[in-house]
Amino acid sequence: MANSGRYDGSPHYAIVGGGAFGASTALALKQRLPTSRVTLFKGTQSHTASTDINKIIRSAYTVQDYVPLANKAMQQWKSNPLYSPYFHQTAWIQVRGIGNYQNVHRGQDDKMISAEQHLRLTGSLQSPRIDDEEEFWLNEDIGYVDSALALNAVIEKAIKLGVEVRSQNALGLIIESNGVCRGVRSVDGCTIADETIVAAGAWTPTLLKNSKVNLFQDEAKQKNFFNTTAVGVATLALTNEEFERLQNTPIIVTNKGEVMLSKKHQVLKITSTKTFPVDDLNNLSTIMVNVTQNQTVLDNMFPEFQGRELHTWACPDLLTPLQDPVVDRAPYNMGLHIATGGSYHSYKFLPIIGGMVVDHLQGKIDTLRDGRWKLERSLAKSAIHPSVVPEGCPVPA
Ligand SMILES: Cc1cc2nc3c(=O)[nH]c(=O)nc-3n(C[C@H](O)[C@H](O)[C@H](O)COP(=O)(O)OP(=O)(O)OC[C@H]3O[C@@H](n4cnc5c(N)ncnc54)[C@H](O)[C@@H]3O)c2cc1C
Repeated sequence: MANSGRYDGSPHYAIVGGGAFGASTALALKQRLPTSRVTLFKGTQSHTASTDINKIIRSAYTVQDYVPLANKAMQQWKSNPLYSPYFHQTAWIQVRGIGNYQNVHRGQDDKMISAEQHLRLTGSLQSPRIDDEEEFWLNEDIGYVDSALALNAVIEKAIKLGVEVRSQNALGLIIESNGVCRGVRSVDGCTIADETIVAAGAWTPTLLKNSKVNLFQDEAKQKNFFNTTAVGVATLALTNEEFERLQNTPIIVTNKGEVMLSKKHQVLKITSTKTFPVDDLNNLSTIMVNVTQNQTVLDNMFPEFQGRELHTWACPDLLTPLQDPVVDRAPYNMGLHIATGGSYHSYKFLPIIGGMVVDHLQGKIDTLRDGRWKLERSLAKSAIHPSVVPEGCPVPA
């Protein structure tokens, strides 16, 4: 079965990838261009960055370019009825010390709190173990979202507005001999589209490679621009008593990882900054995940849980230079666009990222997109989230 591109004189957009970038783009396209035809290939992967149980939503960013953007997203999380049911404003407490605390993002209204206040706020039974020079800093304007549920709500809304969602993988892009991209190949045949947007997260480099799409002429750049990585995630199931006691705990952020509650799942989720490169994403579900660092973070922050069983898995994300996402056109393939590269910090932009992608498709100027989010980008700027770059990673941090 092959479907044609334009009908009713309206353009047809094909989106590959049903994560935060792809789903948000599908919704924004239908909201902004109601007569357009939008097909979203959601993909079949079950463990993705965007379908993880929860994500931190913050406007605190060390790189000031991101503060207004993150604030804009935060307003949507708080007040837009599509997103607000999934947002929990919990605050966070950061453990800061002297020297290089790369996983710490300072906010405007951060305030230092005592160890006693920390204990009271978390509901923990035992004081956390910190170094002599370390301090606790509270930022109240931070929370988490039930990320899988919020993503699903966006996809459901997109379907209501007329987006065609296919729960299948794009097998490849349809690239003509002159380089023009004509859409997507799937098990159903060819879906011909005027514009194709690849938003396949960690799976993007493989899809581009299999479709013989190059984004750079320079071989090293082509090889190193994207870095497919993953990180071990752990959860600890709480008893009813523990949940009751910890239900208002702020998110705890250390230089090595975070601990956060999921009310929905009655678990503590522990992440780590120890990402690792992944050669073949098909093997991700079978590899033994090393969560030693997650365990250390938990033991130090909540000593009462030392020795308790953790459920673990590896969660992939696509890293980019300076951890700036890409929203840009593919330079050698007309009709093809790239919207990806979440780099372990971009879920929070779910409510607004699609609008930015549509701005790009409509040729509107945006300072981030036209600077940091281009494929051709200056590396002279500060990195956004350097703590998540794996050791020895060829991507410039
Ligand atoms: C452990 C972890 C913790 C994080 N914590 C935070 C946080 O606290 N706050 C925050 O803001 N961000 C956080 N992030 C980052 C954020 O989750 C990601 O950057 C973001 O979700 C990426 O979205 P995406 O749409 O680019 O990719 P993904 O979520 O990976 O989605 C890609 C989609 O493409 C689909 N796909 C793949 N191949 C194909 C194909 N061939 N055809 C069709 N579809 C395909 C997949 O099924 C998937 O649905 C974290 C990431 C990780 C991994």
